[in-house]
Amino acid sequence: MRPILLGGYAAKSCPRAVHNDYDPTVPRPVLPVAPELQALYDTGVDFETEILTAWPALALPGYVDLRDLDGDKRVHIGATVGAMRAGAAVIVGGRLPDDVAGGRTGKPDILLRDTGGGYHPADIKAHHVLDRKYDNALASTLKAPSFEDAVPLPDGGARQREEDLLQLAHYWRMLEACGHQATHPRGAICGDDRPGDPLLVWYDLTAPAFRTFSRTTGVATRSALERYDHEHGFRRRVADVARHRTGAAGDPLPLVDPIGQAECATCRWSPVCVDTLPGTDVSAVLRGALSAREYLALRAAGVHTVTDLAGSDPENLLTGMYGAEVPHLRTRAFRLRKAVTAARLAAAGLIVRRRERADVPRAAVEVDIDIEWGADDRVYLWGLLITSNGASRYESFFDPRVTTDRDEELLARRCLDRLTGLAAETPDLLVFHYGTPEPRQARRFPPLPSGPAGPDRWIDLLPLVRATVDSRAGHGLKAMATHGPGHTWRDPDPGGLQSQSWHAAARQGDRAAATRLLTYNEDDVRATLAVRTWLRSA
Ligand code: SF4
Repeated sequence: MRPILLGGYAAKSCPRAVHNDYDPTVPRPVLPVAPELQALYDTGVDFETEILTAWPALALPGYVDLRDLDGDKRVHIGATVGAMRAGAAVIVGGRLPDDVAGGRTGKPDILLRDTGGGYHPADIKAHHVLDRKYDNALASTLKAPSFEDAVPLPDGGARQREEDLLQLAHYWRMLEACGHQATHPRGAICGDDRPGDPLLVWYDLTAPAFRTFSRTTGVATRSALERYDHEHGFRRRVADVARHRTGAAGDPLPLVDPIGQAECATCRWSPVCVDTLPGTDVSAVLRGALSAREYLALRAAGVHTVTDLAGSDPENLLTGMYGAEVPHLRTRAFRLRKAVTAARLAAAGLIVRRRERADVPRAAVEVDIDIEWGADDRVYLWGLLITSNGASRYESFFDPRVTTDRDEELLARRCLDRLTGLAAETPDLLVFHYGTPEPRQARRFPPLPSGPAGPDRWIDLLPLVRATVDSRAGHGLKAMATHGPGHTWRDPDPGGLQSQSWHAAARQGDRAAATRLLTYNEDDVRATLAVRTWLRSA
């Protein structure tokens, strides 16, 4: 029988995926990787490559890179164990021995030697791990990466991302299994907070960090290791039941059923899993509106279908069995009310519905503004749609090769000066945007235009939309413009992640990619105009 060996992602992923993987009666879907998942993966690989390319230049004593051995598991594990036995200070791209008794396999990005002996796991993540609202995150540098070198940061606290810490806990348990763990369970995440000066942010895996459900006390705060042990242990049981299934009448029942959730959107199992749920199933229809746990709580409360939820009183659910299953979720009431609204829309065959007419100010000249920025967070495109007397024209301030503060400022200046000029010609002017990035970015480039052209006077359409429109597809511009006024984008695949890859190509001189970016931006500003017009309509 197939041994159970779960990787570093299993404990933080849907348990039904583990079931599907180990149940030989579940067909293997042949699906291309979802583009958004591929884009995320590519971003992660690029960031990891960037870090691991820069690190050897620091010539740290005891730095070992084993990435080239990936592909020959036996040799790879042997080299990793050999490096640990030899006391290498930093092991990059290693592979730990399978923990057969514990049901684990895994390849930590980095292993860092502790001065007291043994190793800490570390992983590279293309997301932020510091929270600027706090301080005192313990962080070390690539030059002095060990825990002993870590110092408290004055300008950043450590974000407790459960998925990151569960992965570290997985590698920690593997280190314990092979006897190469450090004295205390700690691990580090190297995030993308400081692209030019990467930091390793350290976590104590035994520190209480996550608010969870407790059958005995309702709510309990648990450490990363406690959370991991619980989730990993459950998935081992799921896999064990799954691998005993043969398709015979007496098969054990799966421990977990498919359940619609946000993760399904990019899950390779979806055609043979969530897509097999009845079309009336509330989780199949609403997907990411609630988490798997919340849908299970609804099922426990007898709410199975969209019609069931649409006809439910959220307050009754919250004070009844549903509420008893999710006391640890601080936003449970807000989320449930939104889900009930979404169910009512779905039951009526709607995606969005205006509750009331929005009071959107008017002016002789109305400008919609939208910006695009690259993976380096620099704004390389400011787009304006200028509308007066019923006619609109698009103007862009575009330089895909913006790479310095000065380049970025010059580009922003051209756009802000244009707004100043428009306001000088026609003081009866209003500027509209959707969400907060546009005024936030504009404020970085003083002196700012005064009067109606200044970002403090710009009008954000998003709060107006939230106040007057119910939606079961969120209130993002794409969803609202598509399902409200029926706006369409000329590009068949519009999206923020795709625009970043077009930007990378445009930077290299790809004119088709540059045209695609401009078209995408123009359609975005036309979308805000369409939403604005729709909000004003009777
Ligand atoms: S399709 Fe959804 S329910 Fe099925 S394994 Fe994937 S995430 Fe889980």
